[in-house]
Amino acid sequence: MSTGEQARLEARIDLAAVRSNVRRMREVAGSAQVMAVVKADAYGHGMVQCARAAVEAGATWLGTALPEEALALRAAGLTVPILTWLHVPGDPFADLIAAGVDVSVSGLWALREVTEAVRALGGRPARIQLKADTGLGRNGAPPHDWPLLVEEAVKAQEDGLVTVTGLWSHFACADEPRHPSVAAQLSAFHVALDIAERAGLRPEVRHIANSPATLLVLDSHFDLVRSGLATYGVSPAPDEGSAADFGLHPAMTLVGRLALVKQVEAGSGISYGHTYHTARRTRLGLVPAGYADGIPRAASNRAPVWIDGVRHTIAGRVAMDQFVVDLGDQEAGVGDEVVLFGPGERGEPTAQDWAELVGTIAYEIVTRIGPRVARVYL
Ligand code: PLP
Repeated sequence: MSTGEQARLEARIDLAAVRSNVRRMREVAGSAQVMAVVKADAYGHGMVQCARAAVEAGATWLGTALPEEALALRAAGLTVPILTWLHVPGDPFADLIAAGVDVSVSGLWALREVTEAVRALGGRPARIQLKADTGLGRNGAPPHDWPLLVEEAVKAQEDGLVTVTGLWSHFACADEPRHPSVAAQLSAFHVALDIAERAGLRPEVRHIANSPATLLVLDSHFDLVRSGLATYGVSPAPDEGSAADFGLHPAMTLVGRLALVKQVEAGSGISYGHTYHTARRTRLGLVPAGYADGIPRAASNRAPVWIDGVRHTIAGRVAMDQFVVDLGDQEAGVGDEVVLFGPGERGEPTAQDWAELVGTIAYEIVTRIGPRVARVYL
């Protein structure tokens, strides 16, 4: 129902759910520490608020992709260890070092830029974590480059320029735990660790597990697990189990309001391209949410919304700022709440439902919810 104070479109973020999910991941992780991955505005949930909630619930590390995300966490007063991992030449390594952020190093260029920054600062060694590509084929040093990267990092550590705090990698197929690449990556990681340890590295943390690996590949936990999607209560492996099966609670509910309700005749074409025509005289509801807000255009004529207990499929194309629902016989009025997705506990669609209907993954559904959408923290 309308509150008068509700924004056009708001993402309600249940921070108690975030805390509960972190506690759940700690339970599964056993003696391993939990890093809450809060990159990309905490997968659309609000980075600083979610980071604080995660730390309150016992996450001892935070993870970001970009340096500016890590620096924003420090600026907001978060003091736990932070790892940031996606670097390009010219990144603000001096700022990261000064802020005590751990920098991931996948190649010699990054090690060189980090050591130059330490020399220029003339202060304490940089905290770095060496990343091995064990089979994802993305970031990380491949096996033939790993021994040299380790050797150079050992020299830089002996020169007092860096402290190697971590050795790490990332899975390609952890959401399919029986995929042969999972075992192959684990054994490649053991080889990489062995090379580094024989060269004298004794890092604080060794880690490879993301959310699905934490939940499904129990021998992948090492000293730390990196929990992204699970932190926000969405199943990271929907073929293996739902959020509820994994003991997780979805934290985001995306809610709009009806901006207009009107009657139209049978056969009326709706929205751009007239891809939907009303089957009979009916009432239409206008929802002020569109692809500029991160609602996928592929949701046109596919994704469900929920109004006061009744599900409707989006009628016609999702436009930049708005879409339409065919209310049929429902007595809905202007200002009424339209739930696009939420935890699913009241019968509303979930982000996973949207992902399946739209042909993507729930990661993308929640992460794309854009800056025009108000975040309201519960
Ligand atoms: N670690 C790295 C390097 C990542 O890029 C990500 C996210 O993509 C994660 C961990 C978290 O993954 P997930 O959301 O599946 O837990």
